Amino acid sequence: SARAGIVVTGTEVLSGIISDRNGPWLSERLREIGVDAAFITIAGDRPQDLDAALRFFAEEGVDLIVTSGGLGPTADDLTAEVVGRFQGREMALDEALFGRIADILKPLLARWPDLDPEAVLRSNRKQAVIPVGATILEPVGTAPGLVVPPASEGPTVVVLPGPPRELQPMWETARGTAAFTAAVQGATTFDWRIMRLFGLPESEIAETLLVAEREGLSLEPLEITTCLRRGEIEIATRFEPADAPAYDALAAFVRARHGQLLFSEDGSTIDEQVAALLTGSSASPARTIATAESCTGGLLAGRLTDRAGSSAYVLGGLVVYANAAKVALAGVAPELIERVGAVSPEVAEALADGAADRLGADVGVGVTGIAGPGGGTPEKPVGLVYVSVALADGGERITRRLNLSGNRADVRDRTTTVALHLIRR
Ligand code: ATP
Ligand code: MG
Repeated sequence: SARAGIVVTGTEVLSGIISDRNGPWLSERLREIGVDAAFITIAGDRPQDLDAALRFFAEEGVDLIVTSGGLGPTADDLTAEVVGRFQGREMALDEALFGRIADILKPLLARWPDLDPEAVLRSNRKQAVIPVGATILEPVGTAPGLVVPPASEGPTVVVLPGPPRELQPMWETARGTAAFTAAVQGATTFDWRIMRLFGLPESEIAETLLVAEREGLSLEPLEITTCLRRGEIEIATRFEPADAPAYDALAAFVRARHGQLLFSEDGSTIDEQVAALLTGSSASPARTIATAESCTGGLLAGRLTDRAGSSAYVLGGLVVYANAAKVALAGVAPELIERVGAVSPEVAEALADGAADRLGADVGVGVTGIAGPGGGTPEKPVGLVYVSVALADGGERITRRLNLSGNRADVRDRTTTVALHLIRR
C-alpha cells in the first residue's frame, strides 16, 4: 500500500509552545484511506530544515508528503516556495488566485481602519505566488493550499496551512483532486475497527490473542494494534474488506472471553456512551447528573461537559477539595470526616448524595482520594481513590475502592475514566 510522510512546520510547535495537533490528525486520516504514515517530522521555520525533511522522505520512497504550516503572508512563511523548488517547479503569480485572496481580505480590512489596505495586499500577494502546475486548494482562511506533483518523478506534496481549523477542511478538498488520487493510486482501502475494554491489564489481551491463534483463528490477515488509553485498552484492527470474516471471528472470540469488559465494538467511547445513557432512549429514561469531586478537582465535571449538548443532563459539579468545602458545599457531616477520614467509602457516598441532593440531580457522583505525590500513608497510599455513584433519594448505589498507579495526572485522569464506567453501569 501507499506510504506517506508528514512534515509539520513551525518553530512554535518545534519548541513546544504549542503542541502538534496536525501530525496525528493527518496520520489518522491517511490510515483511513489505506495510506501508511511512515513518519511525522516536526521542523522549525528554517527553509533548509523543511527541505531536508522533504529529501529524507523522498529517499525513503514515500508516495505522498503532507506539509502543515508556513503558508501565511509573513517572511517566515516559506513552505510553498521550498516545496516548489523541491519539486523542480518555477514559481509564478496566479493573478486570479490573488484576486480571490483580495476579495477575502477586503471585508476583514474594513474592520482595521488603521491598516493601509495597499500594504496588506502587497504582503498577501506572496500567497498567490505558487509553483506552476500545482493544483490550488481554495483558502479556508486566507492561505490557499496546494497539491504539487513532481516535475519528473518522486512523491506528490500536499501543502496545507497550519491552523487546524483551516487544515482539516482543506484536507478533504485535497483528497478529491486528481493529483492526489494519482499519487496514492496503488493504495488498498482498508477497514478499521476498534474494540475497547475496561477493567483488565494489557497483558491479558496479548494472552487472548495467543489463545485465539492456538484455537485456530486466522489473525494473519489482520493488523492488530493494542494500546492503553486513559485506563482503557483499545484494540485497533486494520484489514482488507475481503478479510472481514477473520475480524468478525476475532471480535466474537474477544466478546466470549471478556464479556462485559468489552464495552465498545463500534468505536464509541465511554464518554459517548455515558452521554447517550443520560440523554435517555426508549429503553431507559433521561437522567440528570451532578458531581462532588475532591482529588479530581472538577476534572470529571469537565469531562462530562466536554461534549456539546451536555447541558441536557449535567446540572453542575462541586469542587470540594478541603474538608470544610465538603461540609459547606456538599453537606458532609464533619463528624463523619472526623471518624473515618476524608478518603473513605463513607465520604465518597456522602459526596455523591450531597451532589445529587444539593443540585437536585437524578444521579450523584462523589470522588475522594490521594492523587499524590505527597499525602500518602501506609494505610492510605497515593493512588487510593473512592468513587461512588448514587441514584437520588436512597436509590441504587455503587462505590468502588481503586488502587491506581502512575503519577498525579494519571491518577486523576484514570479516576474520571472509572467514574464514567460506574455511571454507565
Ligand atoms: P498563518 O497564515 O496563520 O501564518 P500558516 O499556514 O503560516 O498560517 P503557521 O504560521 O505555521 O501556519 O501557524 C499558524 C498558527 O496555527 C500557529 O500559531 C498555531 O496557533 C496554529 N498551528 C500551526 N500548526 C499547528 C499544529 N501543528 N498544531 C496545532 N496548531 C497549529
Ligand atoms: Mg505563519
